[in-house]
Amino acid sequence: MKTYDYLIVGSGLFGSIFAYEASQKGKKCLVIDKRNHIGGNVYTKEIEGINVHKYGAHIFHTSNKEVWEYIQKFAEFNRYTNSPIAKYKNEIYNMPFNMNTFNKLWGVITPKEAKAKIEEQIKESGIIEPKNLEEQAISLVGKDIYEKLIKGYTQKQWGRPCHELPSFIIKRLPVRFTYDNNYFNDLYQGIPIGGYTQIIEKMLKGIDVRMNCDFFEHREELEKIAHKIVFTGMIDEYYDYCYGELEYRSLKFEEELLDTDNYQGNAVVNYNEYEIPYTRIIEHKHFEYGQQDKTVITREYPSSWQKGDEPYYPMNDERNNELYARYKELADKEDKVIFGGRLGMYKYFDMHHVIDGALKCVKNELEK
Ligand code: FAD
Ligand code: UDP
Repeated sequence: MKTYDYLIVGSGLFGSIFAYEASQKGKKCLVIDKRNHIGGNVYTKEIEGINVHKYGAHIFHTSNKEVWEYIQKFAEFNRYTNSPIAKYKNEIYNMPFNMNTFNKLWGVITPKEAKAKIEEQIKESGIIEPKNLEEQAISLVGKDIYEKLIKGYTQKQWGRPCHELPSFIIKRLPVRFTYDNNYFNDLYQGIPIGGYTQIIEKMLKGIDVRMNCDFFEHREELEKIAHKIVFTGMIDEYYDYCYGELEYRSLKFEEELLDTDNYQGNAVVNYNEYEIPYTRIIEHKHFEYGQQDKTVITREYPSSWQKGDEPYYPMNDERNNELYARYKELADKEDKVIFGGRLGMYKYFDMHHVIDGALKCVKNELEK
């Protein structure tokens, strides 16, 4: 009856790494995905010779040497460094917040001048202990940057005003008193030459894979097919929302092929005022220094999430984290199901977190 050791629900990074490592150790795996392609949100597709990041810009970055070496077994990475620009009402600023941003905004030249300007604005705000994203942002970079570069973007992204959002979201962004536009502080960074899909293809080579297969539509049959399940879909859906629904944030992607070789001169341009409904435009060719005659751009529109929509971001505020903790209690009691990845663990993970988590999980599992 049991044809497989593991049924792996989801062919994203978590599921694919688990499947690869378990297969290497002689375990028989079946990977299913409800989408019509492998890779989850890192999926890329070639259009006119350009590798298009179908689910938004994916820039690989990590300080974990083991993760960096691991992922390079599956692709060669280029030297791409993410340095988005932010557009606010026809003004252009460098991201993340650094000396170039401060200079453009206030004309300050030295770190000392920039720090003094920010200090002055923090003092004026009267905030001592930041309690939400708005207060956290003002305490990090002052009111001017908050108003122009954070407030509108964040409200669009999360569908709530900044004073109703948790501060950890903004702490993802570095604030730097050097002239350095690198978005990430990590030691290693790059884009896989040829896109991300090849990585997943290599991981899943020789493993049984079923696309267009939703776990919940075939649950009875699938639960019988394997000794254990690795589940990387939504944990609340797995438990039939028995404690209520977790909240997610969704996105709509609007892709366009343009008859020009260079549309915006940068891979990522953020649109920071609230009135523009998208948060960023990605020009994919720049991730790989493409020289094609044409270009592909994607506008990213944040949107509310309802059942059936793609749950791109978990909303890790207090209410949802408490609800998740209750689902996790159920998960901890399972001996035949393992939950992993962004949706299975309900966490705002980057790729490197997911790789690290998957490697630890599979190691732990196979050593049992
Ligand atoms: P996923 O990639 O979501 O894979 C889960 C898979 O499970 C999906 O393919 C889904 O179809 C499938 N599935 C779900 N439910 C079912 C079901 N019931 N039956 C069958 N299949 C199911 N990280 C970075 O490090 N750098 C970045 O620049 C970056 N940019 C991002 C930009 C955006 C817009 C988003 C949304 C994420 C970004 N990330 C980035 C995060 C990155 O995408 C994730 O960390 C990573 O892809 C998560 O892998 P995963 O396997 O956990 O989940
Ligand atoms: N953010 C902002 N202005 C920007 C870019 C980001 O205010 O120009 C805030 C916003 O709240 C966002 C958070 O910083 O959700 C994290 O940004 P990041 O680029 O890491 O978001 P992701 O790539 O995960 O969507």
